[in-house]
Order: sequence, then structure tokens, then C-alpha cells
Amino acid sequence: MVTILNYIDGRFVPAVSGRTLDNWRPRDGRIYGTLPASDVADVELAVKAAEVASAGWRKTTVQERSQWLLKIAAVIEERMDAFVCAESEDQGKPEALARRVDIPRAIENFRFFAGAILHQSEEAFASSASVLNYTQRSPVGVAGLIAPWNLPLYLLTWKIAPALACGNTVVAKPSELSPYTAFLLAEVLQAIDFPKGVCNIVHGLGAEVGDALVSHPRVPLISFTGGTVTAKRISERAAPFAKKLSLELGGKNPALIFSSCELASAITTSVRSSFTNQGEICLCTSRLLIDQKIFEDFAHGFVKAVQELTVGDPRHSENELGALISAAHREKVDGYVQRAVKAGAKLLTGGRKLSPPGELAEGYYYEPTVLLVTDPSFEIFQEEVFGPVVTLTPFATYEEAIALANATRYGLAATIWTRDLTEAHRASADVESGLVWVNTWMNRDLRVPFGGMKASGVGREGGRHSLDFYSEEKNICLQL
Ligand code: NDP
Repeated sequence: MVTILNYIDGRFVPAVSGRTLDNWRPRDGRIYGTLPASDVADVELAVKAAEVASAGWRKTTVQERSQWLLKIAAVIEERMDAFVCAESEDQGKPEALARRVDIPRAIENFRFFAGAILHQSEEAFASSASVLNYTQRSPVGVAGLIAPWNLPLYLLTWKIAPALACGNTVVAKPSELSPYTAFLLAEVLQAIDFPKGVCNIVHGLGAEVGDALVSHPRVPLISFTGGTVTAKRISERAAPFAKKLSLELGGKNPALIFSSCELASAITTSVRSSFTNQGEICLCTSRLLIDQKIFEDFAHGFVKAVQELTVGDPRHSENELGALISAAHREKVDGYVQRAVKAGAKLLTGGRKLSPPGELAEGYYYEPTVLLVTDPSFEIFQEEVFGPVVTLTPFATYEEAIALANATRYGLAATIWTRDLTEAHRASADVESGLVWVNTWMNRDLRVPFGGMKASGVGREGGRHSLDFYSEEKNICLQL
């Protein structure tokens, strides 16, 4: 059994109340440990520790902070195997995926911001011969960082690294469904003698720890990645304090497959963009909109490739999909599929819970599922499923394709498949989406602005956008 503890002021501690939550393992549906069921008292301790530590941390030079981030990255890399196993055990994702994507990206988050902070410059404006304006940056203070369960360490460190780089101290709350690698990160911090209180990690439920953090008067910045419904509540709670707020939210991402596309790569990459991490990535494709001229060919090739995907024990490298995050989430995913079929969507493949033989029988597996939907008002076309479920919809004209792509309240990530350069530019401009990938998917450069339009978020992170968000910029006007 794994006992996860909070990390506050450089020490591992249980919740003040002594309460714990069970930690479930998606691959076999068994409890494999506990985590603290923290509440407002633990958040208060963590905020106090972060405030005290802030006096020293904000005075460190960017070179010193950069060196600390590089040290964190190096030790995560040394402990790669432990991180990979923990991420898969906690989240249900294939170990191979954690080794290829999650943990390397967490390391890269620290390395990237260790470099970025060294290259940040301030501005000067010579307004006249005797008036000079110049800008100065300072840390915001204690940063409240709230992350979801789908890419646990990857998304948590996407916040922690720039927050620390900019001189803030941190109180971070991982999802209670996936706390394990955040706990291992805290072990890394302790092992390298990272300054006490600068980075605190408090585990527990969103409604308790998350809410206490968002409503804490001395936490002036909240970075949240999660669902749109939670974000609404967070916005309401943060607004009276005028907190700096970054919201990275859900999506209902379209793939526009135009007839001029290179069909084979459109199919291969769309299968990957739809089902990587069991479809539990905010950037996953969920609505494939296909030119009716190639609909039959595309649908045939796509469904065949989906049927060849292997689902099962995430420890085995031959499995491309592991288990969903929880029993409740699997019920939610299945509910969307069953209601869609009842409403008239045609099931092309999948649509069932899977129960592998033996010790994994109680794991939360679900078949990769493809539905044909022609009516954009269907729930399955509108609502984020966040699982291995996609819809195929034919379109007749360019205008119809764009109208379908933009027909939901979300606007996070679109993919466009075409060999026509004009069509690529035109569709990229017309689609309402913070991120557009043309003939590729999840091709990430950490310098680019990352974030969603419409109900998919507020603000951008990445590169200078993160550095802007995690610092306060001041203008000084000097009469010479
Ligand atoms: P949730 O919104 O349920 O939770 C996200 C985090 O917020 C968790 O740590 C959760 O804690 C916490 N939380 C829950 N309620 C509150 C509250 N009242 N106050 C403060 N914090 C709270 O999302 P999921 O974890 O279910 O993640 C899936 C969602 O995240 C999907 O919608 C997905 O699209 C989105 N997402 C967006 C990304 C992006 O970059 N745009 C990337 C990845 C995911 P707990 O888990 O303990 O309840």
C-alpha cells in the first residue's frame, strides 16, 4: 500500500484532520493506497509556509532559480522508471505512453522554463529626450495551482515550473484521482534540499482543498486546468479578490478532413489524435468532419484501424489503450454512448465496457468507439466525453464544414487535413479554436501560446505567455 502525504514547508505530513481518501488503481479496480483528505486547515498551513518562503525565493537571481529547475529535471530523469510506473498505476495509461510522453514532458517543462527565464528581457521607451519609461517584473506571490487527472505530472509541472521560475512560491493541488507522481515530485524536492516552503503540495478533494485555495485571500493567482463547470465555480470564487486567473478547460475538438487530404496519414494520425491516453486528453479529436466525397473511404479505413487498437494491461507495451481513470468516469463515458445510440447515432464500432480475464477483470476498460452522427444537435456532438469515443459526420461544402466545426460552445484544438495550401489557411482562420494543427496533431513547441477560445478557457500559457502570467509587470516613468 502506498501512503501519500502532503508536502508542506519541506516536510511530509498527513492532513491536519487525520482523514484520508482511498486511491484506486484503474487497471484492476483495487485500492492500492491512501492520500490525505486535506481541507482548509492544510491549505492555511501551506499558504503560510509559502508566504514565509517567498521573502527569500523572490530575491534569488534568475540564474539561481534556473539552476534549481535544472536540478529538479535531472532527478526526475534519474528516477524515470519510478515516475513511469506511478503515472500508469495511478491513471491507467499505458506505461509506454508515460515513458514516451508524460514524464519526458514534465522534465522538459522544468528545462524549458529554466532556459526561458534567462532570456526574458524588460522594455524601455524613450518618450522624449528627458522622459524614460521602463518596465520591471516581479513575482505575483503565492501561486495556487490546480491540475486534473488525465496528464497528472505533465500538467502540474506545466504550472509549477514557470511559477517558480518567475519567483513565486507555490501551493499545488493535484487531482485526488491521480496524486502519486506529485508525491514523487515532492520526494525529489526534498532529496535536492529545495528551499523549504517554496513549493507545497496539498492533496484532497477539489471541493475542499481546491475551493480553499481559490478562496484564500492571500493567494493572488490561480492557474486551473480542468472542466468547464468547475471553472465557472472557480471564476465566481476568485472574482471578489480580483485574482489573476488562467483557465485551461475542456474541448470538443473537430478534425476537418477535406477531400484533398493525404488519406492514409489523415486516418493514421486521426486514430492517434482520437484515442491516445484513452481519449482522455483535452486536445484529443472528438468530432471527425469528413468531406462526403471521401467519406466512405475514410470511414472504412478509420474504423478498421480503430478495431485493430489493443486495449488492456497498461504495463504491457503491446497495449495502445489502458484503463479509464475511474469506475464513475467509465459509467459517464458509457452513458454518453448509450444515449447517443438511443437518439439515433449509428454505432460503427465499440460501445462496450471491457473486462479482461483474470486479475484485471475489475479494471475500467472501454472499447474504442466510433459513432456516425449527422445531426449536430445531438448530445454526443455537443458535450465533452473525455474518453475513447468519437463521432464521424459528413459535410458537403466548405461552409458546412466550418459551420459544423464551430457548432459547439468549445474552441480548444482543431486539426485540418488538406494538401491545398489555400484551404489550409482559410480553414485555420475560420475555425474557432485556440490551437490549430494542419496535417499533424499534438506537435508541441513550448514557446507557442496555448489555450482555448469560447468555453475552452481564458488566457494563454506557454513561453512568454506563462512568464507574463506568473509575474507582475510594472511601468516606471522617469523624468530625467
Ligand atoms: P475537474 O474540473 O473535475 O477537476 C480539475 C481539478 O480541479 C482537480 O484537481 C479537481 O479536484 C479540482 N476541483 C474540483 N472542484 C473544484 C473546486 N470547486 N474548486 C477548486 N478546484 C476544484 O476536471 P477533471 O479532473 O475531471 O479533468 C478533466 C477536464 O479537464 C476535462 O474537461 C478536460 O478537457 C480538462 N482539461 C483541459 C486541459 C487544457 O489544457 N485545456 C488539459 C487537460 C484537461 P478533484 O479531482 O480532487 O475533484
